[in-house]
Amino acid sequence: MIRLDAVVWLEEVGKNDLSTVGGKGASLGEMINIGVPVPGGFAVTAQAFRDFINRAGISEKLFEALKVDVNQETELHKAEKAAKKLIMDAKVPKDIEDAIKSRYEELCKREGKQVFVAVRSSATAEDLPDASFAGQQETYLNMRGAEEVFNAVRKCWASLYGARAIFYRVEQGFDHDKVNLSAIVQMMVDSEKAGVMFSSQPSTGEPLVVIEGAWGLGEAVVSGSVSPDNYVVDRQTKKVLSKYIATKEIMIIRDPKTQKTVTIKVPAKKKEAVVLTEDEMVQLAKYAETLENHYGIPQDIEWGVEKNKIYILQSRPITTIDNTKKPAEAAAASGKAILTGLGAAPGVATGIVRIITSGRDLDKVKQGDIMVTKMTMPDMVPGMKRAGAIVTDEGGMACHAAIVSRELGCPAVVGTKKATSVLKDGMEITVDGGKGIVYEGRVAVAGSAKPAAVAGATGVVVSKPITATEIKVNVSEPDRAAAAAATLADGVGLLRIEHMILGLGKTPNYYIKNGKSEEYIDELVKGVKTVADAFFPRPVWVRTLDAPTDEFRAMEGGENEPIEHNPMLGWRGIRRDLTETEHFRREVRAFKKLHEMGLTNVGIMLPMVQHVRELRAAKAIMVDEGLNLENIDVGIMVETPGAALTIEDFIDEGLDFVSFGTNDLTQYTLAVDRNNENVAGLYTELHPAILKLIEYVVENCNEAGVKTSICGQAGSYPEMAKRLVEIGITSISANIDAVATVRETVARSEKILMLKALRKQD
Ligand code: PEP
Ligand code: MG
Repeated sequence: MIRLDAVVWLEEVGKNDLSTVGGKGASLGEMINIGVPVPGGFAVTAQAFRDFINRAGISEKLFEALKVDVNQETELHKAEKAAKKLIMDAKVPKDIEDAIKSRYEELCKREGKQVFVAVRSSATAEDLPDASFAGQQETYLNMRGAEEVFNAVRKCWASLYGARAIFYRVEQGFDHDKVNLSAIVQMMVDSEKAGVMFSSQPSTGEPLVVIEGAWGLGEAVVSGSVSPDNYVVDRQTKKVLSKYIATKEIMIIRDPKTQKTVTIKVPAKKKEAVVLTEDEMVQLAKYAETLENHYGIPQDIEWGVEKNKIYILQSRPITTIDNTKKPAEAAAASGKAILTGLGAAPGVATGIVRIITSGRDLDKVKQGDIMVTKMTMPDMVPGMKRAGAIVTDEGGMACHAAIVSRELGCPAVVGTKKATSVLKDGMEITVDGGKGIVYEGRVAVAGSAKPAAVAGATGVVVSKPITATEIKVNVSEPDRAAAAAATLADGVGLLRIEHMILGLGKTPNYYIKNGKSEEYIDELVKGVKTVADAFFPRPVWVRTLDAPTDEFRAMEGGENEPIEHNPMLGWRGIRRDLTETEHFRREVRAFKKLHEMGLTNVGIMLPMVQHVRELRAAKAIMVDEGLNLENIDVGIMVETPGAALTIEDFIDEGLDFVSFGTNDLTQYTLAVDRNNENVAGLYTELHPAILKLIEYVVENCNEAGVKTSICGQAGSYPEMAKRLVEIGITSISANIDAVATVRETVARSEKILMLKALRKQD
């Protein structure tokens, strides 16, 4: 049914009003109508939006402005700018403006105070009312006052023409003209405690409501920045089956002065305190049941509690349950439980305990053993693949051990707090990863067959999540090309040629001085070709020679290498290329040959750059050698604060990509020699200064359409990968053995970002 009103109360709409209030508005209305406590509010209808653009006389110009090639970044952004300007500058008909403002005033009257509201976008397509445009438009939180609310509605309307939204519609074949936007104006819930819940066990589909909760606003739980309490309620009996009380370090609250959300430390007495009362757990489980019954499928629900009142903020289907598997039988065991924690990955396994303190003791874990550790690290994945089950001291449902175990189909109990002290090497234990219980000895547990995928200790099911951020791989030895390509990486983010050259035993100068230039070029071509062939047509960024003088000295022809006080700060990388141009020219000739062979995926990356002059001079030599820079990717490593802080100059000069060499960027920014163990404790790529430099470069490059990547060791660290995704990097290049883990981390981080955007919008 199409409604003609400009505004409607949320309780006046339901699931049949998609074309009026979009998916979000319809779902909120529906929940209110089945008695679920949803914060009240109203929707500015899609028709009001349409009416506005028609009567303001901007529709023709608007849709004309959107007719661009969306694959051209600059055109896309021009279209965004033009369309948003039209919306923001046009006069909104007075009756529509009045309807919005007076409905807000009515809402305040109804509540007896001037309320804070969230203004969220709910887009809808005329032909396909249930099309989902989730996460593509904006949300404005903590709005108060009729004028502020009206402005936020207008900004939501404009956000229908954000670059991402325009691109998506064109890609999906939606006509811009047929997509409208309803703005949902809903009261904010200032939660004292909040979280998420699943109406069915998310990995097995059992009728158990799994609730996760922490102090403050739900964002801390959704983003994974706090370890939440975890409660399990039997959906049929409404009995609380288990309570796991986490140590909650931080909380996100609305600052009463600024009204902005801020992250603060949880007061000491609340850190270890249980967040929900049993009554609240049961009440939440009832709402979960109502929603699952109503929608007919398990739901992922966001909730909050303000002044002892529970609110349901969002409900959407759970997508992780594999319905082809029967729910596991309830496990009932007779043995002695010696440890409990979170059942992070279902399945039961008996085996011998192997306590692991770092990736170095991984060899201890033999096929079927139980890996016990404080928390798993990416370098422990090979051992995790052999393990029959995994038990950790730390972690919640979203920790590394939990995610990887689920992916591997390996039973896991996480967050036991004391597994590494209670369990001893060589003990036999039984792990129930569904219930989160560890038993002494071999215990028969009903329904204990490992899920099929767990046969995976020998035949691991490897899947490749699709990531928007490209995942690449670093290669140093051409004979590792096949192994690198087998990671299914999106390209090579760094091909180091030093190893190839140092392996020859003779310096480039030796070849040149002895009239053997062609031999040298052929060696380079051979090495690079092996890798470029293995990846074609995926890009392979080859770094020009970056060996410090001390490494050359031992080679034939290196006798006269200068002795430098600090080779790390010395004559290496681009600075050597530009003063000793003869060897650089040979490299360029090798690149030219490779392109002539059809290996057009080979790109050139310049190391140790610190001033734009260096890029300019290197490009001039390439052109002089006959390279057509139109057809070949040229980029720089960002390894010096100098390059990072003047990135605009490089962009102006023209380059296709930058790649962060964080191994060096860290040592040069923090003044910490990367090879000196006396200061090794100070060496961290996660130092805020490094992150700031990276963020600055990525922002500038993203604006200019220059690709950004990382090829330092830190790209193989999940924590860094997560940060880089948040910062907006375009690709991450990791070591061969870290590609899968980084890809997983990136996929998860991207999902968290999307969920955050989605939940903000809802
Ligand atoms: C770096 O500095 O991060 C890098 C990748 O280069 P290298 O380790 O070879 O100096
Ligand atoms: Mg370096």
